[in-house]
Parts: sequence; C-alpha cells; structure tokens
Amino acid sequence: MNAVASKPGVMDRLSGAFLRRSVVAGCVITILTICAVAAYYVQATVNRLENTHQSFNDRQLRNGYVAMSDVQRLVLILQDAYGNRSMSAQAAEDFSAAADFLYVRTDTFRRVQHSGGYMETADNAIAALQRVQALADEAIATDFRNLSYLSKELTARAQFARQALVAFLDDMRRLQDQLLLKQSIAVANQRLVILITLSGLSVLGIAATLLLRREVSAKLARREAEARVRHLAFFDPLTGLPNRVQFQDRLSELMKREAGVALLLVDLDGFKQVNDTHGHAAGDAILQHVATALEKVVAPYNGLASRLGGDEFSIILTRNDLQCLKGICQEAVEAINQPISYEGETLSVAASIGVATDRQFSSETQLNADGLTRAADFALYASKSSGKGQFTVYDEDLERQFIERRQMVEELPSAIADGSLEFFLQPKVHLPSQLVYGFEALARWRRNGVIVPPRDFISIAEESGLIADVDCRVLNDATRHVAAFNRQHGTDFSISVNFSTVHFTSRKFIWIVKDALESSGLRPELLTIEITETVEMHDWDRAKEIIAGIHDLGVRISIDDFGTGFSSLAYLRKTVADEIKIDRSLVMDIETSDPSRFLLDAVLDIARNLDLEVIVEGIESPKQVDIILGMGADSAQGYYFGRPMPGEDALKLALAEHAQIAQKSAS
Ligand code: C2E
Ligand code: MG
Ligand code: MG
Repeated sequence: MNAVASKPGVMDRLSGAFLRRSVVAGCVITILTICAVAAYYVQATVNRLENTHQSFNDRQLRNGYVAMSDVQRLVLILQDAYGNRSMSAQAAEDFSAAADFLYVRTDTFRRVQHSGGYMETADNAIAALQRVQALADEAIATDFRNLSYLSKELTARAQFARQALVAFLDDMRRLQDQLLLKQSIAVANQRLVILITLSGLSVLGIAATLLLRREVSAKLARREAEARVRHLAFFDPLTGLPNRVQFQDRLSELMKREAGVALLLVDLDGFKQVNDTHGHAAGDAILQHVATALEKVVAPYNGLASRLGGDEFSIILTRNDLQCLKGICQEAVEAINQPISYEGETLSVAASIGVATDRQFSSETQLNADGLTRAADFALYASKSSGKGQFTVYDEDLERQFIERRQMVEELPSAIADGSLEFFLQPKVHLPSQLVYGFEALARWRRNGVIVPPRDFISIAEESGLIADVDCRVLNDATRHVAAFNRQHGTDFSISVNFSTVHFTSRKFIWIVKDALESSGLRPELLTIEITETVEMHDWDRAKEIIAGIHDLGVRISIDDFGTGFSSLAYLRKTVADEIKIDRSLVMDIETSDPSRFLLDAVLDIARNLDLEVIVEGIESPKQVDIILGMGADSAQGYYFGRPMPGEDALKLALAEHAQIAQKSAS
C-alpha cells in the first residue's frame, strides 16, 4: 500500500545529466574538438588544392621544356645525319619518334590555348612548333634526301620555336603566378571566414550548452519545489509519514474498492507531559520514534501508517481477522512503549488504540471512510477512558456509551445550575465510640429520574472542564447544609469534600474555599478537603502552594484513596496533609488474607510515624471493624456504618444516634 515513487523518464535523466559539470565540460570539449577537426580538414583541403595547382603549373612548364628538348632532338638527329652525310635507319626512326612526341606537345599547347583563352605567345609557340613539325614531316616524307637544307632549315625553325616557347613559358609562368596569387588570397579569405565561422560556432555551442545547463537546473529546481509542495500536501514533514489528507484519500479509495478494511486509531498517552517536561524537541523525537515503530509494525501486513496531527496516528490494514488485528495492536502498543534515549535521557510514551473493521457493520449500513473512522474513534475513546496504554475493538455499546457521555457533557452545566447535581452524605465514624463525627459529601446527579453515581460523570466533568463547577457546587451546598444543621441542632459534624486535582493549578481555589467557609459559617476545622494524587498532578510546587494556602485557612487536608497506586510516601512528605484515607482495596481482603492484613498494618504504622490521622474506607463488616480496631485505627467509613444518602437523612440519622447514645449514657 505504500506509495511507489515514479521512475524518472529519459528526458528527466538527460536533464539530470546536464546538471553535472562533467557532462557540460564533455559537451564543450566535444564542440571544440569538432570545430578543430573541421578547421584541420579545411586547412588540409586548401593545402591539397594549392598542391594541385602547383603540379599543374609544373606539368605545363615540363611540357614546354620537353617540347624544347624534342625540337632539340630533331635538330640534333638531322645535324648528325648531315655531318655523316646520310641518315641511318635508326636515326630516321628516332627522328620519327621525336616528331611524334613533338606532335603530342604541340597538341597539348593547343588544348591549353583553347581552355585558357587567347594567348599570343601560345599562338606563336604553336605556330613555331607546327612549322618545326611541318619540316619534320617534310623530311620524313622526302626520306631525308636534302639533309643540308633540312638541317639548316630545322635549326633556324627550331631556334625560332625555342624563342617562341620561352616567350610562351614566361607568359605562362607569369599568368600562373597571378592565378596562384589570386587563389592564395581567396583561400586565405575563405580560411579566415571558415575559422571565424567555426570560432563563432564554438562560442555559440558553449554558450548554448551553458544556457541549457542553466535552463535545466532552473527547471529541475522548479520541479523539486513543486515536488516538495506536493510532498508537504500529502506527507507529514516531521515524521515523513503520510498525513491526514493522504490517509483520508487512501481510506476512502480502499473502502470503495475492497471489503475487509481495518482502521486503527492511535493516540499517545501523556504526550503533553513529555513536551512540558522535556521540551518540544524531545516531543518531536518521541513522534519520530512512534512513526518508525508504526511503520515497522505495519510493514509485514502491507499496511499504511499515517500521522493525523498532534499525537494522533493511524494504521489502515486490508484485513479483518479480529484475532490478527488484536495481535497487531499489541505489537504497536509495545513498539511505541519502547524507551528511547534522547540527549542522555531515557524517554518513553504509551499509546491507546481503537480498532474498527468494515466487517463489523452490516452491508445495509453503507459504511464509508467517515463511518469507519468514527467507529475507530469510539473504540479509541473507550481505550483512553479505561486506563490508557491499551487497545479496544469497536462494538455498538461503545458508540451508545459515547453518545450518552456526549449528552451528559451537554446537560451537565444546566444540572449544576438547576440543582439536579446534589450531594449525598456518607457518615464517618470514630471507631472506639462508634459515633458519627462527620460526613463525606459525594456528588450525585439526578438525571431523568435516575440517580447517576460519580463514576459515570466525574471523568466526563474532568475531561470537559466542568469539574471545578461540580466541586464548587458540592462544596458550597454541603458546607452550607452541614453548617446550618450544626447551628440548628448544636452539633459539631464535620464535612469532607472531594476536590479534583485539576484545581491545584490556580490560587483561585483558595478563595473559593474561603468564600464557602464565610458564606456557610462553617468553622474551618470542620471542613476537610480530600485530594487524590493522580498521574496528571505534575506541577508539584504549584499544587503544594495551593494546598498549603487552603491549609492555612484552617481547613484539613486528607489524602484520599491512599494505597491505590497514585499516592506515595514522597507525595505525603511533600504535601501539607492532616489525614490519609486508606482505600477500600487495602481493606476488602483483610478478613481472609494475611498479606492484606500485614500491608494494612504497615500502612497504619507509616501514617502514625508521619503523625497523620487515619481513616479507613470501605468497611463493610463487623469483623473488619474488629481487625482495624485491633490495629489501632481511629476512624472508619463504609457501608457497615452507613451508605451515602441524601444529606438531610444522613444528618438526622446521625443526630438520632447521638441522642440515643446520650440517652444510654444518661440512664
Ligand atoms: P471516594 O472519595 O473514595 O468516595 C468513596 C466512594 O466509595 C464512594 O463512592 C462511596 O459510595 C464508596 N464507598 C464507601 N463505602 C463503601 C463500602 O463500604 N463499600 C463499597 N463498595 N463502596 C463504598 P461514590 O459515591 O460512587 O464516589 C466515587 C468517587 O467519586 C469518590 O471516591 C470520589 O473520588 C469521586 N467523587 C464523588 N463525589 C465527588 C465530588 O463532588 N467531586 C469530586 N471531584 N469527586 C467526587
Ligand atoms: Mg473521598
Ligand atoms: Mg476514597
């Protein structure tokens, strides 16, 4: 299910290559090399052309000289024969061959004369050569009969031909020189043009390469920025996990496509505490640790872990076997709970998980992503309220409970205001005399004709921030009621009121208690504030200051539920307490269990050593009374002495008991 990154295309790879300096350098070197090769080729061609002209010139000159030597040869052969007075057959053959050669040369001159345009010297030379040739032809035709005439005439014509040839060759050379000069100038100009063109091309090529590189890098930077924006839109920047947007997309898409989708919603417990105590950087480290842990857990199941925001994460799985899902939840809880070390400290965090699968709903429900998320949310909520660090699988009851709780949150403020929120009183008894000396006020909510016990609404009030109103209402009503009763009947009943620890963050609660005393007229020593140490009570110094402020009013402080795990000796030492109230859990087995008895005995000992009064809660039987009396406990509270009941009833009952005892002792 994990997002697969798309492969870069050919163009992307080419663009990427242009970003490397080595590639750009390679391009520049290639362009320069091509230009250099081209320049070399041009130069070589020019050289070859020049050489061609040179050899053409040479051939012409050689033609001229050879023609001269042919003429000379004819003259020599005739002169030789004239000297010998006869022409041998061999000499006649040589003469004839030389005459043929001369004919070829003459023809060559004629061709040059035709192709090169009119040249007077060439005409003269050709005419002179033709005259030599005519005489040679005549000699051959007359079979060299008149050697004297032939020799003289040929010598004269040869002389003339030589002069004509020299004139022609001089002309030729001059013309060729001029031609060569023109060609050289033209070639030099061409070379310059070509070199300038090639240099220009090189510069253009290099510039184009560099521009291309800039363009490509700008384009890639733009693409990168776009990709980053896209990534930010779909991924959480801190953990790198998909974010809520992607989570919702994937869940909707999967639910449309296939059945058997499970959703785990993960919420960290006490994350705020990590942030507050160790700082936000430590909080970030925890979130990254959680992300890694979840990714590891889902990997074998091909699931998708996302961060939904804050300390909320989720896992989408394409399976609905509840047993397997529970196993995955357990793995996730354990993986998240693993401690991490951060800047020399060991940090750890727990997580609560809520699970729901689409198979838990009938096909008529037409469940969509929102519906599944809602269901997982109910389950998560249940995990959170039932102790945290656990997972809960969704069922319909959870949803009903959730809706009920939500209604309660909506109704509670008006219940506090209109008096539907009442208090019951439970007697507290002095053990040796077994007389009621005071009461604990316990909140009750009369809702739709039913009395709702505090366990069903105190946590709701705490979560919704209404607990202060609940406690103040009970404090004011109970103190006013008991004080009025005392005044009316001349009694000295004391009253204990439960205070949630959330109050121990603001000094205003000192004034609230003071106001309650003043408006009720209750003597401060008859009022006890019961507080429970909870895990949320972190700011000890602040709490201690407020508790001390209340204590300074003359009000007693009692540590409630002592022995339930939250309270500790350290807490006792730090707190200004007058009394500890031993929790029912430490008492309920004392009749049957020796260890329970030993433990209770030890706790009573500690309290005595710390000079604290002790009241034992949850006494239900006379045997328990005997045991705790034997241990030296002073006071007790429990169903055995009286259940919580409406204030007036409890007070009247206690008054009646007092009257009875007084009567007994009088008689
Ligand atoms: P708590 O302060 O420890 O009160 C004693 C609880 O134990 C009461 O439950 C009481 O009815 C019950 N109890 C007393 N004796 C016995 C016994 O012999 N056996 C058994 N099984 N139970 C006994 P309740 O009234 O349901 O109150 C529960 C808790 O709710 C209280 O525990 C207290 O923590 C909280 N609470 C009650 N009223 C208030 C209030 O006004 N404000 C705040 N913040 N918390 C309140
Ligand atoms: Mg209490
Ligand atoms: Mg208690």
